[in-house]
Amino acid sequence: MLSLIRLPRVFTINQVPKVFHEDGIISGYRHPRSSATDCILSLFQLTNETLNIWTHFLPTWYFLWKLVTVVLIQTAWQDSFTWPLVIFLLSCCVYPLASSCAHTFSSMSARARHICFFFDYGALSFYSLGSAISYSAYVFPDKWVNGVFHQSYLPIALLNSVLCTSVACYSRLGLPFLQYHRDTIKRFPEYQSPKFSKYLRVVAFAYPYLFDNIPLFYRVFLCSGDGCTDNDTNILHYNHIALALLTGFLFATHLPERLAPGSFDYIGHSHQLFHVCGILGTHFQMKAIEQDMVTRHAWLREHSIPITLNNSVCAVLFCVLVNLIIIILYSLPLLSAADRQRKRHQRAPAKASADSVTS
Ligand SMILES: [Zn+2]
Repeated sequence: MLSLIRLPRVFTINQVPKVFHEDGIISGYRHPRSSATDCILSLFQLTNETLNIWTHFLPTWYFLWKLVTVVLIQTAWQDSFTWPLVIFLLSCCVYPLASSCAHTFSSMSARARHICFFFDYGALSFYSLGSAISYSAYVFPDKWVNGVFHQSYLPIALLNSVLCTSVACYSRLGLPFLQYHRDTIKRFPEYQSPKFSKYLRVVAFAYPYLFDNIPLFYRVFLCSGDGCTDNDTNILHYNHIALALLTGFLFATHLPERLAPGSFDYIGHSHQLFHVCGILGTHFQMKAIEQDMVTRHAWLREHSIPITLNNSVCAVLFCVLVNLIIIILYSLPLLSAADRQRKRHQRAPAKASADSVTS
C-alpha cells in the first residue's frame, strides 16, 4: 500500500537555487518548486526540513491542550486576572504552528519561502508581546510593581513587537517597492550581505526578548533586600533563561553543522536543536508564569496595575492587526510578481499552440 505513494525526490545544495541554501547543510533539499501536496507528503519523508516541521508541530498541540484546559476548566473569561495567561498560551500555540507551516510550505517557490517566513517572524513577535503581557501581570518584582517602568512597559513592548516584525522582514529582501518590487526580486540585503542580514535578524528577536525580560533579570540576578519576590518560582525562571540563551546561541552560530558540513543534514542540525531548546524554554516559562500567577494572586490583585481590556485583549488585537499590515506590505510585490509570472506561463502555451496551428 505504502509503495503506491511516491515520495518526492530530494536534492543536494548544488541542485537548488541559492535562496534555499542553508549553512552547513549539503543534502536533503526538497524540490524548489514543490506542489502543496509534495510539501505535505514531505512530512513523512526524511528531508532536511522534516524534523524542523515536527519539532514545532507537535508542541503546538501540547500548548493548545494547556490553553483549552485553562479556558474551559478554569473558565478564564470570567476573571480578568487570568486573561494575560490565556494570551500568553495563545501566543505559545501560534508561534510553533506558524513556524511548522512556514517550514512545510517554504519549498513551493522562492517567493512562497519569503512569505512563509514573514508570517513566522510575525508570530514570533506576537509571542514576545504575549510574554510581556503575562510578565507585566504576574512576574514583575514587588519593588517595581506600579512604578514608572511598569506603567510604560507594555506600550514599549507593543512598539517593540512592531519593530521586531519590520526589521526581521526587512532582513530578507529589504524594503518592499523601494528595494524590491514585482519586476526585481533580488535578495537585498541578504543576497549582497548574508552576514549582515543574519545579524539583523538576531537583533530583531534578541532585542524584544531582552527588553521583555528586564523585570525578570532584575528580580532573579540583581535585586537584593525586601520586595525582590524571591520565591520557589525562580528556579523555573532560571531554567527558562538558560534555555533561551542556548536557543539564541544555536540560532546565531549554526553549530554543529558548521564544524562538519553534511554530517547533520537530516538529524541534529542547529535549526532542529534551536526549535527543541526554544520549546523547552517556553515550557519552563509557561510553568513559571502559572506558578507566579497562583502564588502571588492575592498580593498582585491588591497592589498591581488592574488588568483591563485595553492592556490585554486590545493590545493583542492591535499587535495582530499592525503585524498583518506589515506582512502584507512586505508580501505584496512578491504576490504580484507571482501573479505576473503565472499569467506569462498561461500565455506561453496558448501562443505555442496558436503557432503550431498556423505553421
Ligand atoms: Zn524554524
